[in-house]
Amino acid sequence: MRYKFHAESMNIVDFIAARRDGLAHPAEALQEFARLVAMKDAIGDDQVAAWLMAAFLNPLTSRETADLTRAMALSGEILELEGLPKPWVDKHSTGGVGDKTTLVLLPLLAACGLTMVKMSGRGLGITGGTVDKLESIPGFRMDLTPAEMIDQAGKIGLAITGQTPNLAPADKRLYAIRDVTATIASVPLIVSSILSKKLAGGAEKLVLDVKCGSGAFMTTLPEAQILARALVDTANQAGLPTVAAITDMNQPLGSAVGNALEVREAMRVLENSNNLNGPEQRFRELCLDLGAETLYFAGKTRSEEEGRRIAEEALTTGVAAQKALEWIEAQSGKPYDSESLPSVHQFTLEARRSGWLRRVDAGAIGRVALDLGAGRKQKSDTVDLAVGLRVLKSVGDEVLAGEPLVEVYPRGSFDEAALRQAFEIVDMEIAPTPAILERLH
Ligand code: URA
Repeated sequence: MRYKFHAESMNIVDFIAARRDGLAHPAEALQEFARLVAMKDAIGDDQVAAWLMAAFLNPLTSRETADLTRAMALSGEILELEGLPKPWVDKHSTGGVGDKTTLVLLPLLAACGLTMVKMSGRGLGITGGTVDKLESIPGFRMDLTPAEMIDQAGKIGLAITGQTPNLAPADKRLYAIRDVTATIASVPLIVSSILSKKLAGGAEKLVLDVKCGSGAFMTTLPEAQILARALVDTANQAGLPTVAAITDMNQPLGSAVGNALEVREAMRVLENSNNLNGPEQRFRELCLDLGAETLYFAGKTRSEEEGRRIAEEALTTGVAAQKALEWIEAQSGKPYDSESLPSVHQFTLEARRSGWLRRVDAGAIGRVALDLGAGRKQKSDTVDLAVGLRVLKSVGDEVLAGEPLVEVYPRGSFDEAALRQAFEIVDMEIAPTPAILERLH
């Protein structure tokens, strides 16, 4: 049942009561709500909080979620990409430990002819943020204006910026209030929050990487499937064709966890380094798989196999590395030798026994990285861009007693016992875990 709605004089109390009572919100009501939320003094935090709690307890339907997503996107500017070479593609990850995929995929796919325009966030908790990672490159600007984004993407095929206040401002306020009212963990609210920023970013195709495991927001496959399905369906309903991959986050992605170390690893993959360790190779494979899927989905290739060949060629011929250097320079970063990054005192944790690795716990490693200072426990914390870890082994690897498992780059002391807890070595052979667990269209 719907309730009566007058756009010219929306009664917020009625709107909240409708949600409380499980009545359907018409699209126009959600649009008006998002407009009021984005205005400074039009509606109080108390009423927004009440609606959020009602929406948490009485979740939005998929139609309402798509309508709210569009409404939140329309609450501010929409990046106008008209005139840039097509296809315009965005890529989003729900976040995980050591997830530096964006740092590789953006230049790699731009080198393959896609226009990649992306807005990224800062890290909070154990999952890192692309803004922090890129800020470890001296001078790298993450505050490009919409006009600068478009100009740069027109010249070199890619641009990235931090969250600008003018894009999806309703989400900024809703998210801040959700954060302090125990209303974050609602799938429709998460979906509309993520996708409103993607719609505002102007892309015409979206590829989602939904992380699943101890180092991610969604720790189990069923949870990740629910989120991924809701994201794909809502994005498609809201007019943004989207595919998703659910990827493993029970172990860190790649080797490096920590901002500057992760940038260095991404550069090593882009430079097609021939001495990647096991976790780095697993990360390279994931980048190629996601890259191939994106090229095919964006209509650039006739098959994923062709996409994979083109992406691999961009790495082996040096075109992707060249594109990464152009990108860093365009955003005022100082290109550097990927072998020489700020490293602080190093400690190596070695295996105490021989066997096979059953567990390399991303959550535990993420918490050690957080304690080292690589992330924020609270929004106001400052991140130490130089600290972190390099995990040298993956689940399924055979190890010998005394073999290095992980290098630590701490500023001072750290909890060695907690780090050791992240690794479990057993006597029986263990199969490696695939990086991609499932794909959704
Ligand atoms: N990321 C977002 O942007 N919004 C959410 O609600 C959760 C994760």
